[in-house]
Amino acid sequence: MTKKILAIALAILVICTSVFAQSISEAKHDPTVGMTVNGFVVDEISDFDMLGATVYEFQHLKTGATVLYVANEDTNRTFDIIFRTPTETDSGIPHVFEHSTLDGSEKYPSKALWFNVSYQTYNTYMNASTYPFMTQYPVASLSEDQLYTLTDFYLDSVFNPLVMTDKSIFDEEAWRYELESADDELTLNGTVYSEMLGATTRERKAGKNFDREIFPNSYAANDSGGNPDVIPEMTWEQIQDYHDKYYHPSNSLTILYGKFDNWKGYLELLDSYFSTYDKKEFDLTDYGYTPITGPVVAEYDFPVEASSDTEHSATVYYGFVCKDIDQDTMNKIDLMTTLAGDTSSVLMENLRNALPYGSFNVYIDFGGPETIVKFIANTVNAEDAETFKAIVDESMAKIAQEGFNPTAVDSIVAAYKLDIMLSGESSSVGVDMMPNLAYYWAGTGYLYGYQDFIDSIDNFQQWNDDGTFKDVISKYIINNDLNALVTTKAVAGLKEQKDAELAARLAEIKAN
Ligand SMILES: [Zn+2]
Repeated sequence: MTKKILAIALAILVICTSVFAQSISEAKHDPTVGMTVNGFVVDEISDFDMLGATVYEFQHLKTGATVLYVANEDTNRTFDIIFRTPTETDSGIPHVFEHSTLDGSEKYPSKALWFNVSYQTYNTYMNASTYPFMTQYPVASLSEDQLYTLTDFYLDSVFNPLVMTDKSIFDEEAWRYELESADDELTLNGTVYSEMLGATTRERKAGKNFDREIFPNSYAANDSGGNPDVIPEMTWEQIQDYHDKYYHPSNSLTILYGKFDNWKGYLELLDSYFSTYDKKEFDLTDYGYTPITGPVVAEYDFPVEASSDTEHSATVYYGFVCKDIDQDTMNKIDLMTTLAGDTSSVLMENLRNALPYGSFNVYIDFGGPETIVKFIANTVNAEDAETFKAIVDESMAKIAQEGFNPTAVDSIVAAYKLDIMLSGESSSVGVDMMPNLAYYWAGTGYLYGYQDFIDSIDNFQQWNDDGTFKDVISKYIINNDLNALVTTKAVAGLKEQKDAELAARLAEIKAN
């Protein structure tokens, strides 16, 4: 009850702020649809109420590059440039490239610059991150002038990185052989190689194993971070080709978030980088992908040391391909999974009772070649897979008949909305929320997917009352044969075996 009152109070607060912010921003920022500014044309203007922002969509006339200027009164300004970067191999090319961009560019050759800048006053955030289908370069500052300089630095880094001409950057970031002295053993090293040795957990592998089964022969099975077993297959030439192929303005989205007095100057700066390119068409279709035609069941081993306790050391994915769905249906399924995944739901209650040692999750994922709904059980046993599947099937069938408990829905929605509102009010909205916009754009091709999703949140109760959730559960889960049940289990002793194989390979390389 207290939560609900707080949510309403916050709602009023947010509405007031947004009206205030809008009246100011309209006076100061006055691009109109069709207006051309510094090589760009204004394509569309819309409101993003939750952020009290007016969103200006610019298109670069020469390359077609899209720039979203999310204008409000927030002085923690954010610049973010995003490229759609398919994970064509399992060797981590997108990740190595992301690391390499921060090792110097033609205009800013110093490798130490990134480190030095990130400790400057006003700079509040500086990063780069690789996702399965996009790579983003966000930077934020309380000073508009400083952000301008950082934007120039970031743009030169992504378009003109020194790794294109300096192989030592590749050796440093990706992988290399090392030999201390002639008597020592040959070892493998490299920033990304070491990072991924640590990051390749059973949970991460389980996700990739599931993707491999539900999306046969697609890029989705590849780890954008890099599979340590395969990272040493990567070549410097592949990194260069990858840059030539995907780091192009026509394949980018740029977001400016916050209060900019000099937004025209930022467009001019972007134009100076974009204009050196010609417009290019990008076809990012995953042509190798061969969709499943019926249920798939698979099991994978995950290597752990001989001394490891393998009780409750399996991860089970059970997921469904949602054929040909539009943004609206995606939003319905997304909200449905929020309710199904809440601790109060019949599904979660039944899972807890049957597998008390497990932890469970359900969500929609549009990052692969098709949208899927995934149910995940972690810290269970491999033998539990069929039980897990049966409980999901039975519980979802029950929800498809009865709907979600309306009282529970009310409290889940109140908490959920509060959460969303608080994130819209935080001091780091730009770096927290702009990646969401980019994620929808890169995953679905639709620029306003995130705003649509936020707007759809008002429909929770209605969609529960009018049977919408029942319908999507029936169609996409209960009566959907396009599903996969994939188990990844820890196997004790396999790790030593794998390590010995690698050591033997390295010894052979050294001998030659
Ligand atoms: Zn990394």
